[in-house]
Amino acid sequence: MTSNDPTSSRDQTTSDSEAAARHRAARDLAGKAETHVGRADGCTPMTRILRRISRGRFGRSTWNPEFEDGLTAPWRDTPAYGRPGWRERAGYIGDEEVFAVDYTICARCGAGWVEMPYTYDGYTRCGLATAALSALRAGHPGLSWYTAGGHYRDAEAFWVAAGQGVSGGYRARQLCSHDLGL
Ligand SMILES: [Zn+2]
Repeated sequence: MTSNDPTSSRDQTTSDSEAAARHRAARDLAGKAETHVGRADGCTPMTRILRRISRGRFGRSTWNPEFEDGLTAPWRDTPAYGRPGWRERAGYIGDEEVFAVDYTICARCGAGWVEMPYTYDGYTRCGLATAALSALRAGHPGLSWYTAGGHYRDAEAFWVAAGQGVSGGYRARQLCSHDLGL
């Protein structure tokens, strides 16, 4: 009788429609990756000045998480926690983070690196990673793009697809020794 059990059928319908709503929201979020980005520098004005006059050597470990509270945009660009010189680009549905990727660039090398794109359960296969990488490229035109670590074997197909037509192709490349940051 399970297939005709109205309770299980209703539960199934509810969870199906919840999944569909999640996917709709995720695709909507993917569509905003280039246009709806809030940015927090995470520096006080003084650390920003210190950073400028010291050419970035000071003022890097002073990220204040409180800055993040001011961000309400669906996509948020913040200093990557515990990774000086790196930033995190994260996608939110409401207050829930559903995607994040770390990235950094070196203007001297004309190179960008991304690492650890992660889509949360329930929001995969909605184009979030592709949209986020595309938005990072659009926001930093003219760079070649790489991954800093090796590729996990199960992510290889993703990186091959993501790298199509992209300078650098998201191939694994060691970080340069310049002063990274953006
Ligand atoms: Zn460099």
